[in-house]
Order: sequence, then C-alpha cells, then structure tokens
Amino acid sequence: MDHLPIFLRVEDREAVVVGGGAVAARKTELLLRCGARVMIVAPSLGHAATELLATHGPEADTGSSGAARLGRLTHLAAEFLPAHLDSAVLAIAATDCRETNVLVSEAARERRLPVNVADDPELSSFILPAIVDRSPVLVAIGSQGSAPVLARRLREQLEALLPHRLGALARFAGARRHGVQQVLPTSERRPFWERILGGRIGAQVLAGDESGAAAAFESDLRAFRSRGPRLGEVYLIGAGPGDPDLLTLRALHCLQEADVILYDRLVSEAVLDRARREAERVFVGKWAARRDADAGGAAQERIHELLIEYARRGLRVARLKGGDPFIFGRGGEEIAALVRHGIPFTVVPGITAGLGAAAAAGIALTHRQLSHSVTFATGQFAEDDSLDWLALARPRQTVVFYMAVAQLERIVARLQEAGAPPDRPAALVERATLPEQRVLRTRLADLACLARTRSVAAPALLIIGEVASAAEAGAIESLTDTLKGVA
Ligand code: SAH
Repeated sequence: MDHLPIFLRVEDREAVVVGGGAVAARKTELLLRCGARVMIVAPSLGHAATELLATHGPEADTGSSGAARLGRLTHLAAEFLPAHLDSAVLAIAATDCRETNVLVSEAARERRLPVNVADDPELSSFILPAIVDRSPVLVAIGSQGSAPVLARRLREQLEALLPHRLGALARFAGARRHGVQQVLPTSERRPFWERILGGRIGAQVLAGDESGAAAAFESDLRAFRSRGPRLGEVYLIGAGPGDPDLLTLRALHCLQEADVILYDRLVSEAVLDRARREAERVFVGKWAARRDADAGGAAQERIHELLIEYARRGLRVARLKGGDPFIFGRGGEEIAALVRHGIPFTVVPGITAGLGAAAAAGIALTHRQLSHSVTFATGQFAEDDSLDWLALARPRQTVVFYMAVAQLERIVARLQEAGAPPDRPAALVERATLPEQRVLRTRLADLACLARTRSVAAPALLIIGEVASAAEAGAIESLTDTLKGVA
C-alpha cells in the first residue's frame, strides 16, 4: 500500500482545475458536488464545462435551494500560471498538453498542495478513486493507479450490490447514535447496533418504511435496556423461481443476516448457496409435500410453531419460499400466525414462477392486441372448484396455472366446457429458470397428451392464451434457445 486513503473536506475551499475539456469538467463536477469553490483555468471551455458554468457560475441563479448547497464555479480564460494556485487547497490538471500538466504538478508540489494529473500517476500526489455514493456512506475504490478500469468494474459490482437506501440507513443510525450512547453502556452499543442494522429495522429503513422503523427502534431499545427476553424476528422471503440471479438484493441481504433458514422444496440449492454459511438450515418441505386438506393443514401448523419457536429464542429466522411468498405460498397464513404471537416480521417479495417462466419462454403475459389481462390460477381445485371457468375461458387474456401438472386433463375439460376453443395456444414450462428448464408449446386440446408423452413433471406452469403461440414467442425464444438449449 503506497497511498493513504482519506476523505478530504473541500466544502467552501478553493480548488483549481486546469483544462477545459470533458475530463476536466467531470472532475469539476465532482468537486462542486462536495461543495468546493472551483476555478477552471483554461483558454477556452468545451461543451460540458460551459454547461457547468451556466449552472454554477457567477451568472447562475443561486436562489434555488438545490444550487445553494453546491459549490461555485469561476472560469479564468488564460494559460496556467503557478500563481493561480496561491489560494487553492487542491489542484487538478486535465489538459492534453504534457508540459502544462508538468507545470501544474511542479507548482502544486512547491506549494505543498495535493495534486492530481488525469491519467498520470507519476505527476500526481493523489488519485481520485472510483466512488459509490450513498451519502453519507461513500465507498471509494482505487488500484493505486495501476488498473483504473478494474476499479471501475468493481465500482459497478458494488453499485449493484449495495442497497439503494443505504444512505438513509446511515442517517437513521446517525440521528439515534447520541440517544443510544446516553442509555446503553459502551459494551452493549455494538451488539445493539449490529442487531438493528442487520435486522428487521435495518430492512425496514432500506425498504423505505422509516416511520415503522422508528417506532420499532424505540421499542427494541427499551427491550434491550430492560434486558427482557430477546425476541427474534422473521423474514418471509421470496426466493424466486430457482435461478439465484433472480433473487432480489433485499432477499440476499436478509439471507446474509439470518441465523436459521426454513426452506421449502421449491427453493433451489443454488439459492441456498447464497445464504450465510453459518446459518442453520431446516428443510420444511417434507411436511408441506402432501397437499390434502388435513395433512397440509397440520404441516402448516408445524411450520408456524417452528417459526415462533426460533424467533422466541432470539434468532433471525429466514422463511424462504419459492417464487413470491404471497402467490400460492401460504405467506398470508404464516404472517397471521406471527401477528397472533407478537413476532416481528418483514416480507421480501420474490419473482413468482409465472413471471420467471414467461420471461424464460419469451411469452409476453400481456400484449396490446392479444391479451389485456393476466390471471394466476391454481390447478389444485379438486376439492373446492371455485374457479370462474367461464371467465378463464374467454379470449384475449392470459391464464397462468400453478400446480397444474397432475390436473391437466381436468383443466382442459373445464376450459373447453366453458367455451375455450381446442386450438387455443398453450405452453408448459417445466423447471423454469433452472438449468433443466423445458418449454413445450401446443394447443389446448393436445396438452394432456403432450405432457404424458414428454413426461412433464412438477414443478411446471401452464400458460394459456394467444400470447403462448409459437409465432408470438418465436422471436424471443430463438434467443433463449441459443442461450439455454431449450428442449
Ligand atoms: N410461491 C410460488 C408458487 C408456489 S406453488 C411462486 O410464487 O412461484 C408451487 C407451484 O409453482 C408449482 O406447482 C409450479 O406450478 C410453480 N413453480 C414454482 N417454481 C417453478 C419453476 N421453477 N418452474 C415452473 N413452475 C414452478
């Protein structure tokens, strides 16, 4: 390590940028964002610098609230002279003339000013890092001048990984830091904050629910002080259709925090691999496997008991479900049980299998000409057939059946009785988004036979409607074909 990473305060200080081109403008903009007063020294300005001058220059309207907080900009239309640095705290050179750059570097060093010359580590005493700005949180990445492109790639990866509202979370904590110092002894502060930032309250702030988080914070702080039995919390997480890249960032975040993970049969190994290594894993799919009313009900009760048991032990419990927890996922029943027992929880939505399958198969669920609505329906209607088959059979819509494989013949029969034509397009998507995914296209009347001959097995989705026709999906599918080798 031959550079010292620091964050330098430049608010209301003068910085000199030498050069009027696009690179100089980018550096100027950054300095202005930090509140600096910037003087650009250059005989003439390019387009970007001219624009900056219009918004931050002496002529700019300072009345608007946003501009007032930003720095101010002046332009000195001249060749650079060492004396231009006399009142500066920092110098940046970004000209395409090496001699000028050398002159700036030397003049700055004589005055003991930090200096950066664009793309020239030799002439620079500091380097501007690639940054991820979640103010007040700032992530700075550098390669000490050796591989700026690598630093930028890392920046993109972090940009995608770090929650959008990280800054809000930092402000939330900042505003309460003093209050916590007042009431908790030093040794307890860190565990307290770990729990807040890594737990449900942190997740709530990241989800934009600051008032809910504020109330929960107060009650957690009280509980922490009174050392009452610590209550854990539950994250009800949608794991998406299988491909781990389809997890949401928030799901990933919660999975990284969990102490114990209760997961279903539909949650893929690849998804579980993204969870915290130390977390205990509990497979609860075995109970939910039998769907008949009694066994299913008892199994569900047992899952509720487990969730409550773990939370009462003070653990952070991830309840991981395939797709979205609120689409044929019994998520509603689970949160009702949690509410009854006063267990705090947060729900993280997931990409439901219907959306995953449609995307993977290149089927647009709605379409300006072909489909004006989409319905997610259950194929498990054996005991309680309350589906409105007349409505489901109508044209110009898309119906997605979940849990349909064992019921294909009945579904087809009901739809045809209700008036759906035998040649209505249909597609079966088996193990959508997983490496073994298969997409089979046919027409309503041939569905059951095709599924038998090609041994279609659960989990699979049935998509019915004009949008499922091969002609419609062809364009996108030929692309997915080459990518995935669809059967
Ligand atoms: N909550 C889940 C659905 C659970 S019901 C969600 O939102 O996706 C279980 C049914 O979902 C399965 O019978 C099947 O029809 C469908 N399903 C789940 N994952 C699937 C996948 N990867 N490919 C195809 N269908 C899937």
